[in-house]
Amino acid sequence: MDLYEHQARQLFAEHGIAVPRAEVVDSADAAERAARRLGGRVVVKAQVKTGGRGKAGGVKLAADPAAAALTARQMLGMDIKGHRVRAVMLAEPVDTAAEFYVGYALDRAAGTFLAIASAEGGTEIEEVAANRPDAVTRMPVDPEEGVTEERAREIAESAGLPPETAPVLRRLWQVLTREDALLVEVNPLVRTVDGRILALDGKVTLDGNARFRQHRWGAEADDPHGDPLEAEAAAKGLNYVRLDGEVGIIGNGAGLVMSTLDVVAGCGARPANFLDIGGGASARVMADGLRVILSDPGVKSVLVNVFGGITACDVVADGIVQALETVQLTKPLVVRLDGNNAARGRAILDARAHPLVHQVTTMDGAARRAAQLADAA
Ligand code: GDP
Ligand code: MN
Repeated sequence: MDLYEHQARQLFAEHGIAVPRAEVVDSADAAERAARRLGGRVVVKAQVKTGGRGKAGGVKLAADPAAAALTARQMLGMDIKGHRVRAVMLAEPVDTAAEFYVGYALDRAAGTFLAIASAEGGTEIEEVAANRPDAVTRMPVDPEEGVTEERAREIAESAGLPPETAPVLRRLWQVLTREDALLVEVNPLVRTVDGRILALDGKVTLDGNARFRQHRWGAEADDPHGDPLEAEAAAKGLNYVRLDGEVGIIGNGAGLVMSTLDVVAGCGARPANFLDIGGGASARVMADGLRVILSDPGVKSVLVNVFGGITACDVVADGIVQALETVQLTKPLVVRLDGNNAARGRAILDARAHPLVHQVTTMDGAARRAAQLADAA
């Protein structure tokens, strides 16, 4: 969940990191009015979730409100690395004396957080790191201890940043830890000619697991390049991950679904997705799941693998039968029911006698059948 620059700035400001005054607009007229409020001369910045906007023509200085309107008109609708510009931010320009990079990221390999800082901010940090690795400082941050005043001074000092940046390092750590972020970056953090420290650009990536309590950012925070089927499934509350195979898979329990993927792969076929319906084998969940899977053009057959536990097989079978009332089955559906009330469940499906529904009682057999049906399609 990446935030837009203007959203990241909002978080910075809330945590006491100074940012230039700015407004976000989505039309040239609004840009002109906003520029006037901001003092006339403004920086016009495309709001897209990608870096390197400056080089791509997405950051421009406008000398007056009329120029701001013209620049906004040119930028709106522009494509920057595959991202369409739907809004621009107008910011008060600042005279910079120095540009730095500061950020925190999760180091999964080391199981800790990293402070990353450089006195050579402005350009993309990956570039600086590749060309002049010594110019980028990385220091682990103990999540229990956090960024103390002392630690902030150490980070600033070892990166060659002025000591006035230390408070920003502490506040940025607060943004990371208190706002459910996995990554926070300020590039550039600048020292202005009149000695202020300001965040001119920001990137914040929120932890997707915290989505349920991050509603304030709205659907905007969702990845605009995400898979459309995954987005549809997520909107329906399904636990679905798209893969690129031909056998669609529905199971109950993440472990069972994972092993179903393996068994299908073992039969020489490729799973088209992961879909765990968990304990929710209702007709609605089954219908939603089938609809999503069947709208994947790569899917040639679907395998439903259920081990009845708390959710008994007859409930799942009822769910399938009801789902078939609303979903037009276009591909063969192989069903394996085992566990609690399996016999009753199988009888329900037998009674329905849908020509495209095949029942197989073992997991191996069902996977093999689904793979054969996909192969024959
Ligand atoms: P990015 O290219 O997507 O990282 O966009 P930035 O917001 O970082 O803008 C690119 C560059 O434009 C920055 O590194 C700054 O050098 C410059 N820049 C952006 N805003 C201002 C500003 O208000 N004043 C000055 N002097 N430079 C700015
Ligand atoms: Mn930047």
